[in-house]
Amino acid sequence: MKAIDRCLELAKISESSYGTLRTFLSEAMRSCYELVGGWMREAGMSVSVDSAGNLRGVFAGTGTKTLLMGSHLDTVENAGAFDGILGVIIALELVEGLNGRRLPFNIEVIGFSEEEGVRFGVPFIGSRGFVGTLDDELLNRKDAAGISVADAIRAYGFSQDAKQNQPFAFFEFHIEQGPVLDSANEAVGIVDAIAGQSRVSVKFIGAANHAGTTPMSLRRDTLACAAEWILAVEERAKSSSGLVATVGRIQAVPGLSNVISGETTVSLDVRHASDQARENAVLELRNQAAAIAKKRNLSMNWTEQLDQPATSLDEQVIAILQAAALKEGITARKMTSGAGHDAMILAPTIPSAMLFVRSPGGISHDPAETVRAEDVAVALRIGRNVIDYLEGSLKI
Ligand SMILES: [Zn+2]
Repeated sequence: MKAIDRCLELAKISESSYGTLRTFLSEAMRSCYELVGGWMREAGMSVSVDSAGNLRGVFAGTGTKTLLMGSHLDTVENAGAFDGILGVIIALELVEGLNGRRLPFNIEVIGFSEEEGVRFGVPFIGSRGFVGTLDDELLNRKDAAGISVADAIRAYGFSQDAKQNQPFAFFEFHIEQGPVLDSANEAVGIVDAIAGQSRVSVKFIGAANHAGTTPMSLRRDTLACAAEWILAVEERAKSSSGLVATVGRIQAVPGLSNVISGETTVSLDVRHASDQARENAVLELRNQAAAIAKKRNLSMNWTEQLDQPATSLDEQVIAILQAAALKEGITARKMTSGAGHDAMILAPTIPSAMLFVRSPGGISHDPAETVRAEDVAVALRIGRNVIDYLEGSLKI
């Protein structure tokens, strides 16, 4: 199937030889833009890269309004082929399906430059640039090589401002990245809300010392402290319905087998559909980190990196997706997304909704991530129905 083949072709464009890795404004991303931009041009679209690094293709209609469709083109480390990318390709193929037929509105296909947060530790740089909420703190954030977001953007070279031509609606098609649709044997679902998420960097500071000569009672071991807290994080999440909390990264300094760790930094990711439940959990975990550090005679730095509220998507756009699915004989379930998406950043200013496509085995963020051709075909037909509906009635 063409859409799947294209995703697999894009998966080969990688910064790493170990699976797919394509980060914000990398050389791999440049190659990816050349390929996708070429397909966009062949479909009759005018193509540009904006000042937030997003790839944008516009298929001009006869009117001035713009329908926005797409998703992101960056990936996590050792990624699969479909997360984000499938949504861009589906949008592109919907335009191709018009065979040059002009609509009463423009269709803009967007490939967001940065959604995963790999390079700078902060996600949604592309979509935040699109809606004009890239603040100085974010622009000054540096990657592992000491390059700031602003410098990276300057060095890349762009052709237009990120913020322009406010679309009347945004549709994002995306793999589910979870097991709900697969376990219910359903091809697609409609996302009506996205869970809020907190990301925190937690640093425990103690004292590095000799592993052989320092008695246990005199140690200020930050790695053992982090370990105690990580188990507390797991316990807290298990005891609260709907809460998920993850420590996915740990960095011990100096990181040697015969030296007590003097400084340990860990990541924390907390998500829940209720902002209150999430905030309560984060506060409790912070207090616990402080208490465990104090007990061990260590200090602790708590740096919040993301505090993203839960987002409701637009009822009218959801209703259009429901009707478009029903036309295919599908009563699509409504579901909350546990993962963040670009639609969540756009939703406060642009009426937005998402269609989830089944993830076989619920596998994502892994090379084993896959989609079924028949499900992608269903998503494409639903997309076509959406465009047909909008062509007949521009009442949004
Ligand atoms: Zn994604």
